[in-house]
Amino acid sequence: MVKLNKNCLQGLRCPKCGSCEPLNVTISLTIPIYDDGFEFPRQEDHTIYWDDKNPCRCDECDYDGDVSDFNVKEENDIRRDELSDSVD
Ligand SMILES: [Zn+2]
Repeated sequence: MVKLNKNCLQGLRCPKCGSCEPLNVTISLTIPIYDDGFEFPRQEDHTIYWDDKNPCRCDECDYDGDVSDFNVKEENDIRRDELSDSVD
């Protein structure tokens, strides 16, 4: 039984292998950078935004796509190994 995401990844899972997390979402984040480096902000200090167009990769099987590709509604939408490696 797969644990479905109910929080910030609600409705998202890998369309290839069905994995729910972690999903590697490429985001941009504005942080203060000083000449001698930066301190990565604590998660609670920042809200991170992304939308359906952000690149996303499954940690489990390396499936690559946009976040929208991971919006899998039904179990039947999981294509598992039927996907080829071809790009759009
Ligand atoms: Zn996957």
